[in-house]
Amino acid sequence: IAWSNAAIAGENGEVTHVVASGIDVTEQRELDRLKDEFAAVVSHELRTPLTSIRGALGLLAGMHTDTIADDRARRLIQVASRNADRLTELTNSILTIERLRAGRGSLDLETISAGELLVNAAETVAGSAEAAGVSLVVQPAPFSLVADGPKLAQVLVNLIGNAVKFSPAGSSVEIRAIRQGGHALFSVQDHGRGIPLDKLDTVFERFRQVHSHDAREKGGSGLGLAIARGIVEQHAGRIWVESELGVGSTFLFTIPAEEKAV
Ligand code: ADP
Repeated sequence: IAWSNAAIAGENGEVTHVVASGIDVTEQRELDRLKDEFAAVVSHELRTPLTSIRGALGLLAGMHTDTIADDRARRLIQVASRNADRLTELTNSILTIERLRAGRGSLDLETISAGELLVNAAETVAGSAEAAGVSLVVQPAPFSLVADGPKLAQVLVNLIGNAVKFSPAGSSVEIRAIRQGGHALFSVQDHGRGIPLDKLDTVFERFRQVHSHDAREKGGSGLGLAIARGIVEQHAGRIWVESELGVGSTFLFTIPAEEKAV
């Protein structure tokens, strides 16, 4: 049970009552679990109709111009396709979160090159970085580690994608990995808007965004960092962020790694 206290003052400001309230955390956790499970079931059920909608939109887009002569119709199809893709991404993210939360989905461990991992992740985000006028700088990382390659790549892609989203044109994002005392330490540093001190922990929670308009203006759902944290913790690592408003943010995570040269 989590307790919190509140003091109630009388007319002269003296404390007259103290109210203590206790929340049954077990009950809260069970509620959270049910919410996650519900979201996962709904997401799963949305998959089949979404596949059909995307298929139909793809066919429409490929039809002859004399069938869909109107430019406006084409633009509407594009808007619908973009949003169907976004919805698909969202349902996939919810299912990933649920799998991580339930401890399902094992790690596929292999020896991977840290340097290649950084380069591949940066390449995945290169298109949106270019569109945003942000340059990606990948530092050499000549060592290997044992980890689930595709999952670590997902963590890096989420972090680099955010760094690009919240950085001004003309700035750079530095992507590094070093070996440090039995760990590989990865970092993604940007020179963007930064994160307020009181949000440094909460940004890793599901559906949390620093500004409520972030989702609308920047895209995203507030799940990327929750997924990143889930994957890093699955590897018995740690993830955190250091940031200064208006100066930039550095997201860091560790993955246990034995000393071993490439
Ligand atoms: P989203 O899909 O909204 O990007 P995330 O979980 O990846 O979800 O991020 C949660 C929120 O954390 C973002 O909406 C944004 O408000 C904040 N955030 C994440 N990365 C950065 C960054 N590099 N700079 C500033 N704010 C960030």
